[in-house]
Amino acid sequence: MITIEQATEILKENAPVAQPQRVPLMHASGRTLMEEVKASFDSPSFNNSAMDGYAVRWQDIETVAGGLPVDVTLVGESSAGTPFNGRLQRGQAIRISTGAAVPDSADTVVPVEDTVQKDDATISILQARAKHQHIRFRGEEFARGQTILEKGALLTPARIALLASVGRDEPLIIPAPRVALCITGSELVEHNEQAVFGQVRNSNGPMLHSALERDGAHVVGEWRLGDDPQKIARALDEAAEQAGVIITTGGVSVGNHDHVRAAAQTCGFDTLFWKIRQRPGKPMFAARKGNTLLVGLPGNPVSAFMGYTHYLQPLLAFMQAQPYERPMISALLQEDAANRSNRVQLNRVTLHKGNDGHWKAQLLARQASHMPTTVAHADGYIQLDINARLKAGDRVQVYTFQKGVNFL
Ligand code: AMP
Ligand code: MG
Repeated sequence: MITIEQATEILKENAPVAQPQRVPLMHASGRTLMEEVKASFDSPSFNNSAMDGYAVRWQDIETVAGGLPVDVTLVGESSAGTPFNGRLQRGQAIRISTGAAVPDSADTVVPVEDTVQKDDATISILQARAKHQHIRFRGEEFARGQTILEKGALLTPARIALLASVGRDEPLIIPAPRVALCITGSELVEHNEQAVFGQVRNSNGPMLHSALERDGAHVVGEWRLGDDPQKIARALDEAAEQAGVIITTGGVSVGNHDHVRAAAQTCGFDTLFWKIRQRPGKPMFAARKGNTLLVGLPGNPVSAFMGYTHYLQPLLAFMQAQPYERPMISALLQEDAANRSNRVQLNRVTLHKGNDGHWKAQLLARQASHMPTTVAHADGYIQLDINARLKAGDRVQVYTFQKGVNFL
């Protein structure tokens, strides 16, 4: 049996390495950028107006600052996409809309609210603060050649917009990890089927699908294998062709019908570890063949969920070159807790904020690994080391199941 830390390290060392790829911008959301991106032009790329109003020459209207209105003559218009091509002469103005080009012959924009139109060709400027007001100057945001996104940036919607604005179509990114799911267990039926006596609905499949989707992975396929050793071996062969990570559930314990480890060996996988000194999820199994990592999660829904959360979620972030820090909240334990077993316990808690402003962690009364409510109704878990003796009021680190503070 190895420790939680050793298992984490071994998985990281054996994580498949993805080659960066260029993808259309529309498919880059949520991926990690693997190149520095420099601006191909100045932003804004031309001087333009920040307001709907009139572009004028400051020297013609500066007396307005003293409180006297000044009349100017309207000689044209610059609207978004249709610039004014002439030159402003003394006492002239053009109508201008937000985002439209300010001609070089103008240096000031007066918002329409600060004017009165006297007749078709005459505008009375009522007030203006200063030369250059309401102009967005070329290059004021960034200049051509300047770095606008660093290598390693997560491509969020705002950054996709930034890439789009500089005309960058095919960014170099780390593609989604390709993951295959192999669900074992002859007792399983689909979640939307009737379960007769002795049958169990497959909940690990939907759980893993939704977790993988959340964590940026691409599920290449899901195999239902019962407990047939040949079928399992065939599926592992097929899955290894298509996926960097194979996740199996069930069939990694010591029962007569637990065939995942033997099947993996038949297919040429080398065992990395089997059994971690932890509860839940002791019989977790890991193996590797070439650039494919197999992680065998125990079948119990709680063990499968905790195994995914504690090991695979950080691993998938690592594979996507995203820094992963377990979401964590420091809280005060509400009761004594001791671990007299020879395995580290990952015990689930609920969190609530006390009137004193401190987070309080309450251990769930039941922690059994066959009870899905012990994770579904929990906000996170604490790691209770072997021989740990905690007292009510002790400060503990709670690994939360979701980021942010959005607890039940
Ligand atoms: P195993 O690890 O195969 O011995 O399975 C342990 C327990 O988990 C058994 O009670 C199984 O019925 C249950 N189990 C296995 N796979 C699943 C699954 N996909 N969904 C729900 N329960 C499962
Ligand atoms: Mg089984």
